[in-house]
Amino acid sequence: MTCRQYREWIEDLVDGTIVPIRRAELERHLAECAECRSFLADMETMFVERAPLRRHIDADDVAAASAYLLSDDAKNVTGTTLYVDAGYHSMGM
Ligand SMILES: [Zn+2]
Repeated sequence: MTCRQYREWIEDLVDGTIVPIRRAELERHLAECAECRSFLADMETMFVERAPLRRHIDADDVAAASAYLLSDDAKNVTGTTLYVDAGYHSMGM
C-alpha cells in the first residue's frame, strides 16, 4: 500500500470508523513512517479544533461510557443512543 492509501485509513482512525484489522496494519505502518505520523497528528489537531467540546476522543472514553451502561447506575436505562463524539452529533455532524 502507499502512504496515500494509508491516509484514508488515518481519517477513519481519527473519526473512529476504522475496522480492527486495518487499524493493526495502519499501526504497523505508522511505526515506520514519520510522514504518516505527522499527517495523523495534524488530523487529530484538526478534529479537536473543530469538536464542539474541543477534546480528543479515545478508546478509554468509549470504554467509560460502556462501563456506565453496564453498571448499576444504569440499571433502569432500557434504551438510548449514547454519543461519545466530543459533541459532533449535537452539531449535526
Ligand atoms: Zn506513510
